[in-house]
Amino acid sequence: MTRKLVYAFHEGNADMRDILGGKGANLAEMTRAGLPVPPGFTISTEACRAFYAAGEQLPDDLMEQVDAAVSRLEEATGKKLGDPSNPLLVSVRSGSVFSMPGMMDTILNLGLNDRTAEGLARLTGNPRFAYDCYRRFIQMFSDVVLGVDHYHFERIIQQRKDQKSVSLDTELGADDWQVIIGEFKDLVQQEAGQSFPLDPKQQLRLAIIAVFSSWNNQRAKIYRKINRIPDDLGTAVNIQLMVFGNMGDDSGTGVAFTRNPSSGDREIYGEYLINAQGEDVVAGIRTPQPISELKEQMPDIYRQFEEISQLLERHYKDMQDIEFTVERGKLYILQTRSGKRTAQAAVKIAVHMVNEGIISKEEALLRIDPEQLDQMLHRRIDPAARLEVIANGLPASPGAASGKIVFEADDAEKLANEGEKVILVRPETTPEDIHGILAAQGILTSRGGMTSHAAVVARGMGKACICGCEQLKIDLRAKTVTVDGLTLRAGDLISIDGSTGRVIKGEVPLIDPELSEEFRELLSWADEVRVLRVRANADNPEDAAKARELGAEGIGLCRTEHMFMEASRVPIVQEMILADTQEEREAALAKLLPMQKEDFKGIFRAMDGLPVNIRLLDPPLHEFLPNMEDLLVDITRLQLTGGDGEELRKKEAQLKKVRALHEFNPMLGHRGCRLGMTHPEIYAMQVRAIFLAAAECVREGIRVEPEVMIPLVGHVNELRNMRELVVEIAGEVERETGVNVPYTVGTMIEVPRAALTAGQIAAEADFFSFGTNDLTQTTFGYSRDDAEGKFLHAYVENKVLPDNPFITLDPDGVGALVRMGVEQGRAVKPGLKTGICGEHGGEKKSIRFCHEAGLNYVSCSPFRVPLARLSAAQAAISGGNGG
Ligand code: ADP
Ligand code: MG
Ligand code: MG
Repeated sequence: MTRKLVYAFHEGNADMRDILGGKGANLAEMTRAGLPVPPGFTISTEACRAFYAAGEQLPDDLMEQVDAAVSRLEEATGKKLGDPSNPLLVSVRSGSVFSMPGMMDTILNLGLNDRTAEGLARLTGNPRFAYDCYRRFIQMFSDVVLGVDHYHFERIIQQRKDQKSVSLDTELGADDWQVIIGEFKDLVQQEAGQSFPLDPKQQLRLAIIAVFSSWNNQRAKIYRKINRIPDDLGTAVNIQLMVFGNMGDDSGTGVAFTRNPSSGDREIYGEYLINAQGEDVVAGIRTPQPISELKEQMPDIYRQFEEISQLLERHYKDMQDIEFTVERGKLYILQTRSGKRTAQAAVKIAVHMVNEGIISKEEALLRIDPEQLDQMLHRRIDPAARLEVIANGLPASPGAASGKIVFEADDAEKLANEGEKVILVRPETTPEDIHGILAAQGILTSRGGMTSHAAVVARGMGKACICGCEQLKIDLRAKTVTVDGLTLRAGDLISIDGSTGRVIKGEVPLIDPELSEEFRELLSWADEVRVLRVRANADNPEDAAKARELGAEGIGLCRTEHMFMEASRVPIVQEMILADTQEEREAALAKLLPMQKEDFKGIFRAMDGLPVNIRLLDPPLHEFLPNMEDLLVDITRLQLTGGDGEELRKKEAQLKKVRALHEFNPMLGHRGCRLGMTHPEIYAMQVRAIFLAAAECVREGIRVEPEVMIPLVGHVNELRNMRELVVEIAGEVERETGVNVPYTVGTMIEVPRAALTAGQIAAEADFFSFGTNDLTQTTFGYSRDDAEGKFLHAYVENKVLPDNPFITLDPDGVGALVRMGVEQGRAVKPGLKTGICGEHGGEKKSIRFCHEAGLNYVSCSPFRVPLARLSAAQAAISGGNGG
């Protein structure tokens, strides 16, 4: 039996995405549902893979099946490929398993040549239309198949318009298009070195090859990389009877979403153009009309469209992005797919759909990509700020961004690589600009609507975008943009507010985000199902308060070294380190004590009633001293200039100490509890500060729950020693203040030996917190900064490692140690509390791992708390009840 590579639309359905691609599967599904879809067939993704396997050759059995399918289409429509008396015209459309809007190629009006075009003109009594189709076909086919750049053709059209003193394509008549077609053919001969192919069968064959090949064009490859779509899936090809939106004023074409993809509001949202075809709406060449106007222009069509969009949304249980065309007053649906949307919209739509009874709470929770939430937790323009608004465009993708103006995608990429923030300003963007969009903070275009390429891509990436800002006069050659007499140049600062469409001169002040009502509701559902608790890493009262507002259930890591690094304190910390005698050191510590105490009080107040995990000093002491090279330079200068003798002696003493503290490998050096063991007075001061702060807070009526955490323990004896110190000082403070503070003492598990001997360590610990940054470093034997700077990216790129293990927890190696630590620890102490406080605590895959490993909580940076709450819920829904 021969393999089946071609499927008529009525043979497929929505579950056949893998074979038919998303577009093909949905065309099939809509055909089955009885929607007005022009007939056609789909060449499977398998055929595309066979094409590549055969060295980019069409398999023989494929063309046989295509010919048979064409014959059936001819029978069904009564039209015939290449027949001037009633020509069959088709579109040849790409369509992969995962939607890659605009990244691959599509050809419309295939089947036209001099004779069929004439036939079409006769048949429709509309020569203008027939020759408009023909020229479009030559343009698209030559661009896609023969590699003749689009702009050559546009230049010819522009010349004609100039000659006739008209500005719109629609103002050109049949005779104009005929002249243009002649010039197009000459152009093709000249640029491609061959004449334009006139045989429809050959056209079809070449078009199929071109669509298969477009799977591997540059922009498609980049898009797949960004969206982590596998490279070996291949694309399907859909061949479909053409319907025509360019037959006059009773025709048109458009794209609409069933809900607003930017805000999530429940309203049909989209655009259309009268007397236009296919790409005209998305290409951003004519700015289309909002769909609400269709209601007045074609009320019947609008009503039908409204009905169909409701039907599709209920059918797919998701917001749809629908392409439609009206041919002489008849509506056709050409595509439907799940619409890309901003994070705001994703949340709002999911919550509304639960309330409308379309999906369950679980489905709503699973539908949102936690990573996407990051967008909503970005800062926005301070509403109180005075802004110099210079123009207004369409609010195509929300968020605020400031940066230097650039006009070319390449420039955007280059400057961004140099660490600059840029805004890409262009008349419109095309799929070739994707790397520039990726590099830019935001996108601003003078043309195109809310469904233009720039808008769709920006929303997908969560970047601020304004489109159709027609007041802007952009001169790409001079690299200037002018609005109302004000001219800005490349490199000037500009800001855009993608939520309102405002273009602002200069930089703008930003403020912290707040959670919308829907977002809070969604997170409350997440809280109902999740098993993992979510805490935050916070070192000061402001961060602690923010974390709490975003739903943190405690602090999982308070790093005390940040309190030492505050500018005003550094000299005192240095005094402590440089001290020659015990008395000098104690004096410096005595100065630090009240400061630390105030820090802790602030945090305890912010976290009233919730646990606060405080890690004692962790980094090596030389981090608080000036850098050795700087000191050497200063000393040499002082010596040469014979400057301040006092200063010179001070610097020399510092240098001596810096040299003494110098380590070959500070990451593995004198830090963490090793510091506490050799300088117990430092930890003693910190513990005293914690308990004094706690006692004072208790007196204020605040409920405190300190967890004292000892870092970098590798041997149980280290923890036993440090624990004794904590217990002793806590006792002293209790006797002095008369206040009893409930507390626990535990350790970080961040070197392999700690995980391997977790049973022993658990005997001395009330909790374990897995410090997966250090644990990853020590398990892999990588120093993170060196690895990320040198080889790690290549490792991920070449798939030596599946992910960067500092971003996504390595489940097999580091994860095995975590699981072992939990199991052995709990075997000795069943109630042992376990958590994670590395950056992994805010990353979705790692959170899933933590859920499965049975940890009690994850801790992450305050702004990632909502993301962690959702990720934890998703892990619970799809992975059972944890371990
Ligand atoms: P993309 O994946 O880039 O959206 P499509 O294959 O969907 O590419 O087609 C591009 C444009 O051409 C769309 O606007 C679509 O509606 C239009 N189009 C595709 N096939 C037909 C057809 N058979 N008749 C009329 N318009 C079509
Ligand atoms: Mg499409
Ligand atoms: Mg650590």
